[in-house]
Amino acid sequence: HVSQAHLNIVIVGHVDHGKSTLVGRLYADTGSLPDGKLEKVQAICRQQGKEFEYAFLFDAFLEEQEQGITIDTARTFFSWKNRQYIIIDAPGHKEFLKNMVSGAARAEAALLLIDAHEGVKEQSKKHGYLLSLLGVKQVAVVVNKMDLADYSQDTFARIEQEYSEFLAQLRVKPQRFIPVSAKLGDNIAQPSAHMPWYSGPTVLQTLESFTKETAREQQPLRFPVQDVYKFDARRILAGRIASGVLKVGDRLLFSPSNKSAVVRTVEAFNVDPVPTEARAGQSTGITLDEQIFVERGEMASHQETVPQVSTLIRCNLFWMGRRPLEIGRKYLLRLATREVDCEVATIHRIIDTQDLDAKQIHTSVGRNEVAELTIRTKSPIAFDRYSDSDVTGRFVLVDQYDVSGGGIITEGLQDDQTQL
Ligand code: GDP
Repeated sequence: HVSQAHLNIVIVGHVDHGKSTLVGRLYADTGSLPDGKLEKVQAICRQQGKEFEYAFLFDAFLEEQEQGITIDTARTFFSWKNRQYIIIDAPGHKEFLKNMVSGAARAEAALLLIDAHEGVKEQSKKHGYLLSLLGVKQVAVVVNKMDLADYSQDTFARIEQEYSEFLAQLRVKPQRFIPVSAKLGDNIAQPSAHMPWYSGPTVLQTLESFTKETAREQQPLRFPVQDVYKFDARRILAGRIASGVLKVGDRLLFSPSNKSAVVRTVEAFNVDPVPTEARAGQSTGITLDEQIFVERGEMASHQETVPQVSTLIRCNLFWMGRRPLEIGRKYLLRLATREVDCEVATIHRIIDTQDLDAKQIHTSVGRNEVAELTIRTKSPIAFDRYSDSDVTGRFVLVDQYDVSGGGIITEGLQDDQTQL
């Protein structure tokens, strides 16, 4: 399957530290450029009397994308050794965060760019924070413009030490630091002759070493019940398999009710032979061997791999509501097929998505802000951490009929307070 060979990556860094140049380099040096593209961009530069920049290749790519020329490969950026790299390019932090929490895009790996000449900047710190908010686990730090720092090992080592100390506070642990010159091509696709002191992998080798997240089918079974139909004496539980595989004969546990039964049949209309299983992504209906009372909103799993169940969750939430999110106000939380009343118990931290600045006062969350929250639901919900499942680890908040926030669950908490 093609999508297995895709890796979604995000590249972040202070403006001018060389993001576009790095991407342009990867684009060119992996041979992913359409024929004649490089020459064409170079010719345009000559005509306009400006120096050729690898960054222009990225700009040209984005332009083409806008014009819809490369429509079928719309998001694929470059290919290398049977894998397509998709660069999640959001115009700003706001769009990026929104895409991530809403499930529109998910970065499986990140490159953090730092200009060797300029060193670790405030922005570099904010970007580290951004990645920690989203729980991106595969991270490499690319120390760029080493050519402007005399390819100095000391400069590189200093940046590595300073930045890894900072990232450690955020619990972001980069797999490695790579000294490069995106402009000259050192350690991008080719090892550098200028830095014999560095024997680690190039940027491209690092990307290759990043693993694809476990395919949904291979993850534990999550079957959120969407509807319960009664036919004759039978009850059919219908829904879409979020992850894993469900088979006839499997014993299922329903959360949060904790009821259990065995799958008797997998139903299908006009399918011959009658299926005995249903997989992630498929909509299906099943019957059980016992008449247990199960409602919409329950989540079926196998007994050995159950989701978490709690009334208290810690999450990162992107707020886009017309009015601010406030402690004590009632919202509707929607996670998979479950809908439940909830309220915000604590606002731990608020970040402005424009500049990733933390706000000092935490009484309400405004439009386009991201917040770390603890939310309490009126009755227990079944869920997973977002880092374990992007389907059942994500939810939306509804405020007066409007979907007003998207969140990712970082932790399930023990609730020792009385409920709402
Ligand atoms: P972005 O804003 O992060 O996308 O940065 P750009 O890729 O547009 O690069 C900003 C400037 O830095 C451009 O003038 C590039 O030519 C320059 N630049 C990028 N990488 C390098 C490098 O490795 N060495 C040197 N000397 N200049 C670089």
